[in-house]
Amino acid sequence: MAISIINQFLNIIFPNNCHVCGNSLVDGEETMCLTCRLNLPRTNFHSEPFNEIHQRLATPGLPIDKAAAWFHYFRDNPYARMLQTAKYNQSPEIARHLGRDFANELGLDFFNGIDILMPVPLHITKFLKRGYNQAEEIALGVSSVTGIPIADNLRMRRHSTQTRKSATQRAANASNIAYVTYPEELADKHILVIDDIITTGSTMLSCLKALKTAEPSVKLSVFTLAATHAE
Ligand SMILES: [Zn+2]
Repeated sequence: MAISIINQFLNIIFPNNCHVCGNSLVDGEETMCLTCRLNLPRTNFHSEPFNEIHQRLATPGLPIDKAAAWFHYFRDNPYARMLQTAKYNQSPEIARHLGRDFANELGLDFFNGIDILMPVPLHITKFLKRGYNQAEEIALGVSSVTGIPIADNLRMRRHSTQTRKSATQRAANASNIAYVTYPEELADKHILVIDDIITTGSTMLSCLKALKTAEPSVKLSVFTLAATHAE
């Protein structure tokens, strides 16, 4: 905990330090130093046609084409803290850089056929409080590499806070919160839904279901920076 606070403090004072280990970054390094980048606990899910994300989101009538998550999310580890910093510490540029870097690592083949990047939205009150949506920042990073446009047809309904609920309650609570505006814009599009992390999958599933229900002709894929382990 103390180290985490010190790291966060250092990140504010010295933004040119690695957000994982705290060491100074050298020329050509951004967000993470080379060592932390090499040691990133990659999932390599994208190389499996039916991977852990497909399994977690498996729903009849809701086929998912591609699914990628850059690294495994372990609670309280420095990579997890980097994501928390991107989300809560007024550091949208971290999310943007990570989205860009993962897109670069995946290569253009992964993005072949994808028409639209769709960030998982934040409810408006959360957005106003935080000032940015980390998923949108990740999408901006992905778009800078791929040139694929970002859409904002997804919205979130108001729902009670998730933090004090059990996993089952959270899943039920999140299952119907997303909805789509102007679904006709999405007809026949292959949409890559983007978020920072996939945990139970309930938020992602809510978005995918909303998109498929609003416009059944869409093709869906999933991109996240991190994934927790299946329970
Ligand atoms: Zn480092």
